This record gives sequence, structure tokens and C-alpha cells, in this order.
Amino acid sequence: MQTVDQLNFDNTYARLPENFHSRLSPTPLPDPYLVSFNTDAAHLIDLDSEEMTRADFAEYFIGNRLLPGAEPLSMIYAGHQFGQFVPQLGDGRAILLGEIRNRAGELWDVQLKGAGITPYSRQGDGRAVLRSSIREYLCSEAMHGLGIPTSRALCIVGSNAEVYRERIETAAVLTRLAPSHVRFGSFEVFFYRGQHEQIATLADYVITRNFPHLADDMDKYQLFLNEVTQRTAKLMAQWQAVGFSHGVMNTDNMSILGLTFDYGPFGFMENYDPGYICNHSDPGGRYAYDQQPQVGLWNLACLAQALSPLIPAEDIHTVLNNYAPAYHQHYARLMGAKLGLSHTTRDDDNVELITSLLKMMQSSRLDYTNLFRSLGNFNSAADATNAALREQFIDLAAFDAWAAAYRARLQHEAGADSERKMRMDRVNPKFILRNYLAQIAIEKAEQLRDFSEIDRLLNLLVKPFDEQPVMGNYAEPSPEWARQLEVSCSS
Ligand code: AMP
Ligand code: MG
Repeated sequence: MQTVDQLNFDNTYARLPENFHSRLSPTPLPDPYLVSFNTDAAHLIDLDSEEMTRADFAEYFIGNRLLPGAEPLSMIYAGHQFGQFVPQLGDGRAILLGEIRNRAGELWDVQLKGAGITPYSRQGDGRAVLRSSIREYLCSEAMHGLGIPTSRALCIVGSNAEVYRERIETAAVLTRLAPSHVRFGSFEVFFYRGQHEQIATLADYVITRNFPHLADDMDKYQLFLNEVTQRTAKLMAQWQAVGFSHGVMNTDNMSILGLTFDYGPFGFMENYDPGYICNHSDPGGRYAYDQQPQVGLWNLACLAQALSPLIPAEDIHTVLNNYAPAYHQHYARLMGAKLGLSHTTRDDDNVELITSLLKMMQSSRLDYTNLFRSLGNFNSAADATNAALREQFIDLAAFDAWAAAYRARLQHEAGADSERKMRMDRVNPKFILRNYLAQIAIEKAEQLRDFSEIDRLLNLLVKPFDEQPVMGNYAEPSPEWARQLEVSCSS
């Protein structure tokens, strides 16, 4: 384990041609204080967690002091935002310090989010507020706990410097880690400019660094697009299965590694509602929950266009045509597992059971997470009434018909009910990051400078499948006061 001065930085992105990035230093913030530190993420870069107690720790992770070996830069990219192409975006408030190869040989980019103005800030102030930093910090670790690929969050450092959003808030810097911060939009910027050589340079960089098994293949670019497509299809299925909505699926927020990242106005659906929109700034529902799988493909088509100078058109079509079947296969498998059903030739029966259950959940306005969790207790005996489950549904006849079909399907599963429950509890989380839980942690932090709730939630959410008999109502749906909470793009 290393101290902050011993971290072994490199920055290969800085070695790419000049028009890939801008070198710059973070802009200092006054009187930084540590808000939260994530020991699990520290291990990813071999950082000794005792380091968080050093007097100068906050200075480093708010950007007032540069970590030895860091070569700070902001990356350029473009992106399709709500369907419109914006030819130039870029890290408007994020600064990449470099990358660390850990003892296990893994590469982790270290990025400060909210570290000040960059050449790509446009009208923005280069800052992030404490509120949104807490949300991203908790959600990225919650997603990791759920087994969903994501950027990771190392720590939050706050400052009392004022930041102007809908109201006056205070600044914070989130340090995040990912094996790459390259986005679909990183390729689009060069395609738009007609800089085809740069597209190849970036593709080669990403392949060598993050897809090394493809590097020597004649068809490496096609295989690369194929792998991004497959990973994205799986990611979308994983989001759908846990009821996660990203909120701003612009191509500049799509990771080339198929990770969940750039958390903004995300939300976990509570009552099952396919049209669920988590982002108050998206009234048309372009990025509604049920749109996500097809938006994933739309975004991949943008990436494919940007890679079109490198890949023959017919190969691009082949790759993109594989998206839908891959998505459906992952979705059927994940949802089948939520019902305790193994992946068999009976996938079609599974889909039927899933679809009819979701329909009933929607009309009875049932909590998506909790209903699936409670389904683990389904008694498959012929004379069982499953009363506790049954009484949650409005249409009892529909439930009885569904329960009979489910019971029949369970006859084909090996093992007793108790074994099935154990399987189901490993895929149906008890704890998700409900907006109101984050809100309570945020208000305590903002008003009282009490950060204990952040740590409590973090500890809970990294083990979302464990029973964890905790004090409090952490597994309960939103209380009445929180139903109207609105989350917008403002962060
Ligand atoms: P987002 O939708 O949050 O991923 O941001 C879209 C673009 O706006 C990215 O290029 C961000 O870097 C930039 N951006 C967002 N917020 C700010 C800010 N406060 N200051 C500067 N740039 C920002
Ligand atoms: Mg973004």
C-alpha cells in the first residue's frame, strides 16, 4: 500500500497528439475538507486508506496540490445531446491526473470532477456542487455493489466556496476512477472534423490499452466496435433489470468500455412504471426507462458512424444487427434469474411470466425492487395461498392465474423453495439508492456538515443483497414528502 506521494502515475493520454486534450492545472478552492473516503476504491490504486487522515489529504484531492507524477489535462470530445450533434464539448470541469497501474496489473485513470474551468467549459463555471457529488459517489458504488460495470468513486472533498445553481450551493470535488474515460463522443469529435487519422490513433490507443486481446487481429476495428456493442447491450439489460435510469444518455456520457458513468439526474425506479423519467429536464422522455435499450443502439450507431472510416459499411451493419438479440438474451436471462428461473430452452415461457408480472406490478403500482425481493418467499406448494404477496395486487384473479403459471414453471427447476430463495436473494437487491435516501444524506451534509449518513449509506449499498438488519427504513419506498423530489441536469 502506498502513500499519496508514492502513487505511481503515468499519463498516456498526454502523449497523444495535442488536439486530443488541453493541459492545465486545477483551480484551487479555499479550506478544503474531506467529506467521505471510500476504502474499497482506494485499494484499486493501492492507496493506503490511512492516508485519508493526513493533514494535506484534502489539498491533494481538491486539486490545490498536485499529486507527484500527475500530468493534469482535460479531454476533448463531442456528442449527440438529446439527439442534436454538438461538435465540441470536452471535460468542462473534469481534470484527468493520469493513470495508475496497480499491483494486480489493472489500469485506473484518476480524474478530479469539479476542479475548475477548462478550455471546454463553455458557459459553465467548472465546478460541481456537494449535492451532485454525493449522488454520484453513492450511486457509482451502489452500482458496483449490484455487480453492474461503472466508474468508481474514491473520495469527495468539499469547500465552502459558493457555487450558483438554482440556489446557492457549495463546491466539491469528486475523485473518480475508471480504466478509461474515453467516450463515444471522443471519436465523434474527429469524425466531424474529418480528421480520420486521429480516429485511427484514438482507436489504436483504446484497443492497445483496454482491448489488448484484439490488438493483433486484422479486423481489430470491427471487433472493437463489436465488443463495445456487446458490452453496451449487456449494460442496458443490467440497468433495466435493477430499474436504473441514467437520465442523460447523450453520446458524450457513453463509456467506450460499457461502464455506467457521468452520473447526473439518474434515478432508481420505485413503482414499476415503464415510462419512468428520472430527469426533470427531459419532459419528452427521450431517456425514459423503457427507452434506454433502443437509445443504447442509437448511440452505438453514432459511434459506428465515427468509426466508419476504419470499418467497411457491411461489417458495421452486421455488428449493429447483433445488438438487439444480445440485449434480449441478457434481459431474458437476468429477469429469469430474478424469478429464480434458470436459463433453459424455456426462455420464451420465462419472458411470458416476466411480462405478465410486470403488467400486474404496473397496474397495482408496486415497488419494483421490493416486489422482486419478496418473491423469493413464494411458496410453490399446490395448496399455498401466498397471501402476503397476493394481497399487494389489485387484480386478484390475474395474480392467481400468474401464480399458477409460475408454480407450474417452478416444477421444472431443481431444488427446494429455500434454495430458490437463496438464488433470488443474490440477484434481487434489498437496498437501492432511492432518491430520498440520498436526499437525507445531502441535507445533513449541507446543513450540519454531518457526513455520517453518506458513510452509512455507502456501507449499506455496497452489499445490496445482504439482509443487513439495520436500524431505520432503508429498504422502504419513498415516504410521501419525497415523492415530489425533482432531479434536473443541474449539478
Ligand atoms: P453532462 O451532461 O453533465 O455530462 O455535461 C455535458 C457537458 O457540459 C460536458 O462537456 C461537461 O463537462 C460540461 N459541464 C457540465 N457542467 C459544467 C460546469 N459546471 N462547468 C463547466 N462545464 C460543465
Ligand atoms: Mg458528461
